[in-house]
Amino acid sequence: MLILNKLRHAFSDMWYVLFPPACPVCNVTLREGEQILCNHCRAGIPLTGFIGHVDNAMERRLWGLTIFEHASALFFYIENSPYRRIIHEFKYNGKWFLAREMGEWFGGEILRAGAYSNIDVIIPVPLHPLRRLWRGYNQSEYLAEGLSRVLEVPVDRRSLRRHSYTTSQTRRTKNQRWDNVHGRFRVRRGEQLAGRHILLVDDVFTTGATICACAEAIRAVAPDCRISVATLTVSQREVADLF
Ligand SMILES: [Zn+2]
Repeated sequence: MLILNKLRHAFSDMWYVLFPPACPVCNVTLREGEQILCNHCRAGIPLTGFIGHVDNAMERRLWGLTIFEHASALFFYIENSPYRRIIHEFKYNGKWFLAREMGEWFGGEILRAGAYSNIDVIIPVPLHPLRRLWRGYNQSEYLAEGLSRVLEVPVDRRSLRRHSYTTSQTRRTKNQRWDNVHGRFRVRRGEQLAGRHILLVDDVFTTGATICACAEAIRAVAPDCRISVATLTVSQREVADLF
């Protein structure tokens, strides 16, 4: 075992020398002690400050749409901001590990804020199986995994399913987004979610349509559960009028 561990460490050292990690925002090679982002980009990330804050702008966006315990996001998704590259890298560039690292960062901030108490299970927003096959993974599962590591709460990847294929939400209007996802999710083994506090996890929050469709599907089979929402980013444009 000792030899195996030494080999593993030697391999990871060699990997680090050959492929030193770069900051996903500015692309400079990370220096010793820097994690995920370089110090400069870490200092400038547009954090929302929503974590643990009741009635924050994201919660206001959800008022009247679905019932939830707490909703927050780590940082703002801003048009033309270089920080959008974080999402782009783990969503379209195969860097799934970046989603997990960002999930761990988010989890650390949640612990620091003392938010989302008594979460029983983390459920990532699922992709349709075809899209998952095409991409090779679901980035929200890795976000959930990062959160799970820090919050020490299990991830449930099986109960919530996306049962019909929907095209990308990116270029849709607000109304089209709601129609596009409404009724697209189903829950299996709903009895396992009864009475539990569920943390729904996704990468980007825009209109809230996807989160609400998931919450609706879960409540249809487990009406007494409690639902909270944690997304890595929230579109600043969508909540700008709610501050
Ligand atoms: Zn940087």
